[in-house]
Amino acid sequence: MHRQELKAALLAVGSARLTGKDATPYLSSSSAGPGAGGQGSVFFSTSAMRVRFSLSDTSPVEIIHAGEGSATLRYGEIVLSGRLDPVGLHCPEQAYITVSSGCIFNCHYCNVPRLPKRRKSVSEVHAMVDGIKDRINAISITSGVYSDIYEEEDFVCQVVRDLAGFGLPIGVSIYPTEQTPGRLHGLGVKEVKFNLECATPELFKTLCPGHDRDLIIRVLQKSVVLFGRGHVFSNVILGLGETDEEMNACIRELTKLGVIPVIRPLNPIAGFSGSMRPDAERLLRIAGYHERALEEEGLDPRQALTMCVRCRGCDLVPGEPL
Ligand code: SF4
Repeated sequence: MHRQELKAALLAVGSARLTGKDATPYLSSSSAGPGAGGQGSVFFSTSAMRVRFSLSDTSPVEIIHAGEGSATLRYGEIVLSGRLDPVGLHCPEQAYITVSSGCIFNCHYCNVPRLPKRRKSVSEVHAMVDGIKDRINAISITSGVYSDIYEEEDFVCQVVRDLAGFGLPIGVSIYPTEQTPGRLHGLGVKEVKFNLECATPELFKTLCPGHDRDLIIRVLQKSVVLFGRGHVFSNVILGLGETDEEMNACIRELTKLGVIPVIRPLNPIAGFSGSMRPDAERLLRIAGYHERALEEEGLDPRQALTMCVRCRGCDLVPGEPL
């Protein structure tokens, strides 16, 4: 099976049962975004790909840990030898930190508003990075919205100012205001991600009450001018009810701006808990559009320094492996 087909098949399942030796050092938990909550996850890698799996006792994918990270994945006829990647914070090789858990918005596909609200202090985030600084090559910061978007931006700017001393590339993904790109750029941030989330304005209006799609597009445009083409990202969830044509149009809307879309298969939680993840065939079709759209605009995901495009655990990222 071709590498992309294999990864698409695994992403379409999205979960794994972990058996064998104790794998505690390889476990990650998440408190932000549509993957938040749950039993945690692991990153399984071969020389050709990395895949993140949520842990589930009922998954058809089994990962058998033989010790010291060495692992075998079994799924039907598929048997792969690989390894569990050590996690920095949240994902391999990065300190990817959620500053504020919980959110004032209520996007229908997201678990974050159902999680307890909590905010890490500037010194707490500093200590978290300090504890792992020798085994990471990037810092990524994300946040829910604790009280309002302006206050959240102010607070995240304080966090970023403090983290600059580590001398690592910093990426930031928060709900933006008009000022966010300029402020983050002025603080030395290298990359930003502002999420469009839904492929069409109609889905966005229904599923993201209180959000402003036009604002996000304007902020992405400004960001490309400041951070450069290929260093601005936007998540779009695949499987919210859009057609392939609509997803393709959204991908092209973003790539024409110089933004790298991150096509994220639906995690069926929150208001979508009865829905299906997109199947492997659809993931591959969309990955084909994605790859062509990136190529046409000269955008190369392998140049990413931070966040999901660097990690590539949850998506079919064109150009993998790094
Ligand atoms: S791709 Fe993004 S959301 Fe997925 S594990 Fe990596 S950093 Fe986290």
